[in-house]
Amino acid sequence: MTIPGEATHNQCDVSHIRIMIRTVAGRLALGKMPGGTVALRCAHVVNAIAYIAFAPDDTGPATENPAMQAIRHWSVRHAGLLERVYALVEHALIAAGPMLARIGMARLERPVAAVERGVKGLLFDCRMCGQCTLSSTGMSCSMNCPKSLRNGPCGGVRQNGYCEVKPDRPCVWVEAWAGSRRMGKGGAIRNVQAAVDHRLIGRSSWLAVARGEHAKRK
Ligand code: SF4
Repeated sequence: MTIPGEATHNQCDVSHIRIMIRTVAGRLALGKMPGGTVALRCAHVVNAIAYIAFAPDDTGPATENPAMQAIRHWSVRHAGLLERVYALVEHALIAAGPMLARIGMARLERPVAAVERGVKGLLFDCRMCGQCTLSSTGMSCSMNCPKSLRNGPCGGVRQNGYCEVKPDRPCVWVEAWAGSRRMGKGGAIRNVQAAVDHRLIGRSSWLAVARGEHAKRK
């Protein structure tokens, strides 16, 4: 089954297999899986797993669309401008909330989500998580992180600032920090974000703003 907005994340490529191996290796090392103690006794097994899991992925195929990468980078470079635009949109959505409620939020969900997917998909490669954090992440969508990290980078960012899993793209959190430095309220990047609520994936975060739910999550 494909979860809306997660098609890219569901692609079974070498990188994802490596993440799975890494997870299993981590749990084995912590003794949280049956057989973990036996595995730890076998240094060769652990070393082999560690080599597969942690060897740099420099030989993998390029996965990034250059045009999409350029547009995402443009959005980060113009994070200050986009912040001001978003503030206007947010005020308009909040003001329109009562009217939208009279029309029916449920009725509006699909068409508004479709427009949001188109606009934010173009500007940010939005994955429609339904709980947008762009204004706290320098206009760099954290859902583009292959590990979907919402609170800063993993420990694997390369020395050139590129992603550990996708070596052809900059780490979304390096971009997020750069974008936040261009924003008036860029300090929000230090806010701890709640874990992704998977019930909201595919839903419009614009309508969530209109309902006032966005403010409650802040
Ligand atoms: S954080 Fe914002 S831009 Fe990123 S997937 Fe969620 S709604 Fe889309």
